Amino acid sequence: MDRNDIIYKEILDNLYDGVYFVDEKRVITYWNKGAERITGYTSAEVVGKRCADNILVHVDHEGNVLCQGVCPVGETLADGTHRSTEVYLHHRAGHRVPITVRVAPIRDAQDRVVGAVEVFSDNTPEAAALQRLAEAERMAYVDPLTGLANRRYAEIILRARHEEMERYGWIFGVLFADIDRFKKINDGYGHAAGDEVLKMVARTLANSVRSFDLVSRWGGEEFLAIIANVDREELAATANRFRALVEQSNLSSVQDLRVTISVGATLARPEDGIDGLLARVDSLMYQSKSGGRNRATLG
Ligand code: GH3
Ligand code: MG
Ligand code: MG
Repeated sequence: MDRNDIIYKEILDNLYDGVYFVDEKRVITYWNKGAERITGYTSAEVVGKRCADNILVHVDHEGNVLCQGVCPVGETLADGTHRSTEVYLHHRAGHRVPITVRVAPIRDAQDRVVGAVEVFSDNTPEAAALQRLAEAERMAYVDPLTGLANRRYAEIILRARHEEMERYGWIFGVLFADIDRFKKINDGYGHAAGDEVLKMVARTLANSVRSFDLVSRWGGEEFLAIIANVDREELAATANRFRALVEQSNLSSVQDLRVTISVGATLARPEDGIDGLLARVDSLMYQSKSGGRNRATLG
């Protein structure tokens, strides 16, 4: 594959839709991740097979098998035109899945049809509903700049952890991190560079917790992390890891720009309300500021 092929493959693998290519003999030459998800067949199982070889075996609304007769891919290979239709494919598990199929010819430099590409989307009502739901949830709970959970989501998780603490006694911790002298970054390098710094810090923090912990963007240049099932020692270690890893990150696109953070860290206490917990961790963060910044304070 040359560079362009790799880029196209990357794009195709990230599509929600299924995509596959066939050559002029209808042998499958490429099968993307969407196709794997919708059909249950992996790329390794289908590449090199003919699409009629007991794989997709599209049927129409009346149950007629299309592979032998007027399969949309076959038609496009024969007449070189685009087409779009609704059919049912065969899922690896055996059931039928309604899909919308779009087929386009692939031509060589002499304009001869040498294959076809089929793009298909899952028409199951659940798929449509889930996709809309996932998208709506994403928009409601994700900070668009950093890709981290937003404050609204962090508040939901805080309530959940707090409830678990009351019910089961599981202790969680919170870390509050604020970028030091961030105004100077914006003033000195511009708002766009400031945004890049926010993304860099966000990634570094998100990459330094366990999968069941949460790092959120709480506000402008403030991040709140919620650390599950943790003791004092581990929480202190995480706070210091945050501080040290941010200090050791740099933005290569802007003269190796670096920033530091001030961190507050505290374990939730059974008598804490959420507001009290947040007030304590905020004031611990401010102790780190007044203590000289680029430090973590555990309280
Ligand atoms: P300190 O060490 O005391 O925290 O100093 P500071 O300069 O970081 O102080 P402060 O918290 O008052 O400044 C935060 C700045 O963050 C102000 C605001 O312009 C900037 N900011 C907030 N949100 C964004 C954003 O989304 N992008 C950029 N580039 N800047 C932001
Ligand atoms: Mg701030
Ligand atoms: Mg700040």
